[in-house]
Amino acid sequence: MDNFTPVDGALHAEGVSLSTIADAVGTPVYVYSTAAFQRHARAFRDGLTGAGVTRIHLAYAIKANPNLAVLRVLANEGYGADVVSGGEMMRALAGGVPAKDIVFSGVGKTREELTAALDAGIGQFNLELEEEGEVLAALAHARGIRAPATLRVNPDVDAGTHAKISTGRKENKFGVPIDQAVEMYGRLAELDGLALHGIAIHIGSQLLDLAPLETAYRRIGALIAELRKFGHFITRVDLGGGLGVIYKAGDVPPSAADYGAMVARVTRDWDVELMFEPGRLIAANAGVLLTKVIWVKPGVINPYVIVDAAMNDLARPALYDAWHDFVAVRPNGGRMTANIAGPVCESGDTFAMGREIDEVHSGDLAVFRGAGAYGATMASTYNSRALVPEVLVDGDRFAVVADRIQPETILAAERLPDWLKG
Ligand SMILES: *Cc1c(COP(=O)(O)O)cnc(C)c1O
Repeated sequence: MDNFTPVDGALHAEGVSLSTIADAVGTPVYVYSTAAFQRHARAFRDGLTGAGVTRIHLAYAIKANPNLAVLRVLANEGYGADVVSGGEMMRALAGGVPAKDIVFSGVGKTREELTAALDAGIGQFNLELEEEGEVLAALAHARGIRAPATLRVNPDVDAGTHAKISTGRKENKFGVPIDQAVEMYGRLAELDGLALHGIAIHIGSQLLDLAPLETAYRRIGALIAELRKFGHFITRVDLGGGLGVIYKAGDVPPSAADYGAMVARVTRDWDVELMFEPGRLIAANAGVLLTKVIWVKPGVINPYVIVDAAMNDLARPALYDAWHDFVAVRPNGGRMTANIAGPVCESGDTFAMGREIDEVHSGDLAVFRGAGAYGATMASTYNSRALVPEVLVDGDRFAVVADRIQPETILAAERLPDWLKG
């Protein structure tokens, strides 16, 4: 199932032609499919409930795509939010996620962010270190409340993914070492201002194999048993996100059903509410980056297709050597082997080298697929380019859900100091 398919030879997002969107909004622009977000959100839930995992709390990891309209679509699907900053918490609330359904993760929550989250009444803090727990407890105690919390543990599992998106090995910055967790949990559980409910983990992103997740979950199962031996009440376990998606033909991520079956098997005796934080799985294939070919520049080996999207709009290829399929909006049937690059003055601003693609010419429209997660949210204005806009499609209607922020607007926020004026 795919919500970006050709109709009469022209690529559409649901019922809307991408050419129509390019004419109305210009390029580059991210285009999202409401139906795709909904389908992914439902498939993930069904994978769990279908396997009998029913005491669940789903928190969409909004860093994958924090657009307000996307958050509203997912809140309407009954998803809470996993946030990693005060700004994301603000967005989740604005998107309509109830405070009690918000989980605050992240290794560097500031005291100001902890305070704001306590005042908002969010449902859970995932603690990353003991001192954070002590500070949160003191802040809560001073308000006469107890902060609901779990301790994030680092299970020391190699997720087998790209090093920059791996988070569960002992040398990573996330979580407390699993062999220190029992003692630390005991100390934190003593604090008046904390209501410590359980454990959280998240071992990495774009996982294409269930084995590392299963290993990590089994370690958490053993830890729960150990904590209960010491008299702790463990009622929640947050299993994080990380499931991979198809970016490229040949990628075979686990299905939601396979994941659900594994979770059911491993957690059968845990007797807890399970929490999940999917991000990429929900968002990646719900969006494309629509771009226009500026030039086809002859090259020494292959021609360079120079598009008007660049690394500042979609950073994943430059950051992680990520693959995004590139397809013409109106393919003419021809094929070519080309390099695909943006206008930014860095050789790293290259989306693909020596790739076989639809034949394109100057002025043609094309898309990078799989761009709904970790796309617009990582965009910058490097090279004084505009901040890329976002469009949401729903059936045969569409709306701009984030404006293109022009270089003039960004320039307007800059000042000359007095001594340079005149
Ligand atoms: C990034 C992140 C997620 C989401 O990861 P995906 O790979 O996008 O599913 C979930 N939980 C935490 C704590 C994260 O940092």
